[in-house]
Amino acid sequence: MGRSMFRLHRHCVFCNINKELGFNIVYEDDTLIAFHDRAPAGAMHLLVVPRKHIGSVKELSSQHVELVSSMMDLGKRLLVELGQDPAKARIGFHRPPFTSVRHLHMHFIVTPFKSRFRSLKYQPGRRWYMDAVDLLEVLKAHQK
Ligand SMILES: [Zn+2]
Ligand SMILES: [Zn+2]
Repeated sequence: MGRSMFRLHRHCVFCNINKELGFNIVYEDDTLIAFHDRAPAGAMHLLVVPRKHIGSVKELSSQHVELVSSMMDLGKRLLVELGQDPAKARIGFHRPPFTSVRHLHMHFIVTPFKSRFRSLKYQPGRRWYMDAVDLLEVLKAHQK
């Protein structure tokens, strides 16, 4: 066993966030970390990631409802603390294989988007992106 509670993936950037330089971290605890996206797609762009390595939404099941809910709650709370309106944020996940980093991360992008391309890149209902609320519904539906 390492010092961490969790299995760390040595080559995963998001597993090693505290060792990496250049992350603008706005929140962290034992379970979650939140930071500004290095290439913001909108007026503000936060990412919330679990400490535990989960590759993507494809690895999520009904047992992750609580985790995903807590990611959503944290991101919205941080937006408010940073003076943003969560109602104006597009909140969701990239679907594999369209994931830049293979460690689950929830995007919180405050609109307006910086470009049409970025708006499309984070557009719910596409093959490459899904809304966080939709994901939660799917996970909850499998809970019964
Ligand atoms: Zn990882
Ligand atoms: Zn992403």
